[in-house]
Amino acid sequence: MKQYLQENIFKIISEAADELQQECYVIGGFVRDIFLKRPSKDIDVVVVGSGIELAKRVTEKLGKNAHLTVFKTYGTAQVKFKKMEVEFVGARKESYQRESRNPIVEDGTLEDDQNRRDFTINALAICLNKERFGELVDPFGGLDDLKNFVIRTPLNPDITFSDDPLRMMRGIRFSAQLGFFLETNTFEAIVRNKERIEIISKERIADELNKIMMSRKPSVGFILLEKTGLLELIFPEVLALKGAETIDGIGHKDNFYHTLAVLDGLSEHTDNLWLRWAALLHDIGKPRTKRFDSRVGWTFHNHNFVGEKMIPDIFRKMKLPTNEKMKYVQKIVTLHMRPIVLSEEEVTDSAVRRLLFDAGDDIDDLMKLCEADITSKNPEKVKRFRSNFLLVRQKLKEIEEKDRIRNFQPPVSGQEIMDTFNLPASAIVGDIKMRIKDAILDGIIPNEHDAAKEYMIQVAKELKILS
Ligand code: ATP
Ligand code: MG
Repeated sequence: MKQYLQENIFKIISEAADELQQECYVIGGFVRDIFLKRPSKDIDVVVVGSGIELAKRVTEKLGKNAHLTVFKTYGTAQVKFKKMEVEFVGARKESYQRESRNPIVEDGTLEDDQNRRDFTINALAICLNKERFGELVDPFGGLDDLKNFVIRTPLNPDITFSDDPLRMMRGIRFSAQLGFFLETNTFEAIVRNKERIEIISKERIADELNKIMMSRKPSVGFILLEKTGLLELIFPEVLALKGAETIDGIGHKDNFYHTLAVLDGLSEHTDNLWLRWAALLHDIGKPRTKRFDSRVGWTFHNHNFVGEKMIPDIFRKMKLPTNEKMKYVQKIVTLHMRPIVLSEEEVTDSAVRRLLFDAGDDIDDLMKLCEADITSKNPEKVKRFRSNFLLVRQKLKEIEEKDRIRNFQPPVSGQEIMDTFNLPASAIVGDIKMRIKDAILDGIIPNEHDAAKEYMIQVAKELKILS
């Protein structure tokens, strides 16, 4: 174990703790991540005594490059040194009341402190005092659970989850992040305690959801959320995607599993959190637009537009940012059918220009999502789609190089139109501008000033502004 504690800071903490004659351990996520070989900069140190006092002593010993922050109300302190952040806290015992996840806290032993941890793999501690330096304290078999990829609470899971229901989300998040399994008893306790999630703030839930979204295979998290019944409580719109109906022998695909396949597929190609959100929400309008027609079967007309309109409510309710990130998600959701429709028909320059115009700089992201959206089980169909898509991508490139539509700026300004025809600012000016834009997008004229001006004069004649 000692080889993992090479950093000078551990030696300094060790000396400081010995000087104060206090038992001291590095504990929690940092220790877990040593075994998982995951890099982590956040170090949690528990001392059987005063965390603040130890932090002060450590800061003195580290010298001028160390920075101390004391959180008096919490009885904790943080030391920043180089790229590391070390939290110092006194070992504590916690007792909970029903209405809150914030416990009543009193001083305790290391054992008390390990008992209050959420999972066995997060309760591992390594002693830092000189005599026992590097000794692992693992009362709940956390090391075995790490080896077996198991998430399990240290004590009775019903109590652990009821005390602080955020732990249910954390357990599912760790399963997704680490690719671990929820031990049966732990899983069943989430099912039994799911309603307790109501005392957790929306912000914290969103935080965990974002971590699930950013994991390598986000579907792991969403499937567990669904199976435990939490999804219904925290995100009913996504649950509504689940299920496949059949009428007159005609079925449709289960949009929940389809969405997750798209999300996983996309996640192989991007770490952009908001593009991943767009994948999760791309078909969110389907349940509301689903119709059965005996001639054409199942339809989901305008589900992209309905989805786009649902997003602000969802973001507001879930305390996700309602800023340009949300607008970006809306834009991708609205446009998500366009490249596919395009690839099904003949890929005309005009359609490609319009797509470039509407997507702007987000065109590459949109294309990534659309490619992930091809999840058919029919390999022939997938092959055809993919080769059509290649064509769309090629055309996009050609036309962008030629016509520079991506960041379209009208080559003739409204001011120039007003000046030329001596017009006041009015609807007709907007009309002329739009016709010029359409002419460019349809390839009637090139995206250049002189050609646009000539076309402007022609339009003015048609509109009888000029004779
Ligand atoms: P990450 O940093 O990736 O979110 P982590 O396990 O390090 O994961 P932190 O929130 O940094 O999580 O917490 C550090 C440690 O504190 C955890 O490993 C765990 O032992 C303990 N802990 C954190 N939150 C809880 C909680 N809600 N209930 C019980 N123990 C917790
Ligand atoms: Mg951490």
